[in-house]
Amino acid sequence: MKMPKHMRIYCPICGKHTVHDVDKVKKGRASSLNWIVRQKKRRSGIGNAGKFSKVPGGDKPTKKVFLRYKCTECKKSHQRKGFRVSKLELVE
Ligand SMILES: [Zn+2]
Repeated sequence: MKMPKHMRIYCPICGKHTVHDVDKVKKGRASSLNWIVRQKKRRSGIGNAGKFSKVPGGDKPTKKVFLRYKCTECKKSHQRKGFRVSKLELVE
């Protein structure tokens, strides 16, 4: 999917349609699931690993992307709901 870098969409701060700069939201750090790693380690011995004995399902074919829209008038950015797309390109 191709996305234009500049879009004329509604700005909730200005309350009207303005030109927005589209920017991909970068992924943050993975949440601290250290406790689950420890739990897994404790169970990885002999016998049934309980809920960890399941085979992981693997990755989904598409990833959810979030875009940030920065208003060129008030310079404030807002976000819309993320959507699933296999590939996202920002074009001029
Ligand atoms: Zn605005």
